[in-house]
Amino acid sequence: MKSPNPHPVSDPLTPKQRLLLNQQLKRCYDNVPHYRHVFEQIKFDHDNHYQLSELQRLPTLSKEQIRNNYKDFISDKYNMERCKHSYSSGSTGEPFATYFDNLSWYRKKYFLKLRARFACGMSIGDRIAILECVPEEKARQSNSKAWLRDPLLKVRVFSLFADTDELLAKLRVFRPRNIYGYPSHLMTLANAISNGAGPVPGVKRIFTASEYLKSGSRQFIEQHFSAPIFDHYGSTEFKEIAWQCPFSNGSGGYHINNHEVICEIIDSDGNPAPNGSSGEIVVTDLRNKAMPLLRYRMNDHGLMSWERCRCGYEGPTLLPLGGRSSDYIILPSLKQISPYLITTNIEHIEGLIQYQIDQNSVTGIIARTVWESPPDASQLNRVHHAIDDILGGAMSISVEVCDAISVEENGKLKVVKRSVELRQA
Ligand SMILES: [Zn+2]
Repeated sequence: MKSPNPHPVSDPLTPKQRLLLNQQLKRCYDNVPHYRHVFEQIKFDHDNHYQLSELQRLPTLSKEQIRNNYKDFISDKYNMERCKHSYSSGSTGEPFATYFDNLSWYRKKYFLKLRARFACGMSIGDRIAILECVPEEKARQSNSKAWLRDPLLKVRVFSLFADTDELLAKLRVFRPRNIYGYPSHLMTLANAISNGAGPVPGVKRIFTASEYLKSGSRQFIEQHFSAPIFDHYGSTEFKEIAWQCPFSNGSGGYHINNHEVICEIIDSDGNPAPNGSSGEIVVTDLRNKAMPLLRYRMNDHGLMSWERCRCGYEGPTLLPLGGRSSDYIILPSLKQISPYLITTNIEHIEGLIQYQIDQNSVTGIIARTVWESPPDASQLNRVHHAIDDILGGAMSISVEVCDAISVEENGKLKVVKRSVELRQA
């Protein structure tokens, strides 16, 4: 895929980003054992490097590398026990913690998020419903302290494990102007509304995150809630990385929090991808002093573009293409097939609003599909062919039509999953 507007200069960093990067590199060398070692090994002059091309001399970093060597990534200046931290479980289920200094924690967790939400039209005093992956009891506990926040924003947490009809009834009583949720769960609610459960009136905007948002799902949710979706892209390691503004028009690129992170796209060999090409997203944190992550591989696919957003935002935009919450398909020959190849091929099938490709045996795939209206044989055939094309006829494929697709224990939908235990090649 090519961007119509390749970036105009050899170094795409802004002066502010260069300054922040220089400060971060200096801190990394002075205080973080891993980087000190790497900088010395590759003779990297940490003191005067401003350009992206210089940063790209550093090797990329994976979660596994950090997990095996935790203490090497924590700054000598900070005591891990006293730092704010966030856990993610990841696809392997092994917890992974990222540590933050206080200032960057509050910036990332509150200030940047609120700034982006207000830019999308949210106002002081708004009612916000957060549909969260917490037990109902925990949601109740969280709401018992809500009065503390009410002068600023009237936030109420709702468990996504609640019965769908009961949850919709509670939302109709609360009348949120803003809803936060996972696309797959909002699909379940939109489905119930389309089946006659009655609408939730007064919603002005929906914020989604954490899952790849398929365009068919977006339209279906927007139609049944009569409100636009603003998706944002982030992770526990960096919090919010990029977000959609009101001018992104649903499908446009996401604004990157440029004074917080540097995003890059790398190809399958780990080299910087040519302008406008898709590849793996790599992120460098410019602010976190306690556990600075430089060129960290997100395990997600994306595309960067220098096409201007109509709102006037001047930086590059990021278009996440999904991948992280998905598994590889493993063929009988032990060849691994990227979930991204399958999702790209299946994405544009008309009428298909949600799907899950599940490798449920060594040689078998089940494609669970949810449709806007009952599909005909040719639509089901298109799904079959879209998957078969990528798997090269190596697996048997059955296409099932469902009302809804079950989510994982973490409340998220895995678009491509391997429910059979296979030894990876
Ligand atoms: Zn914009």
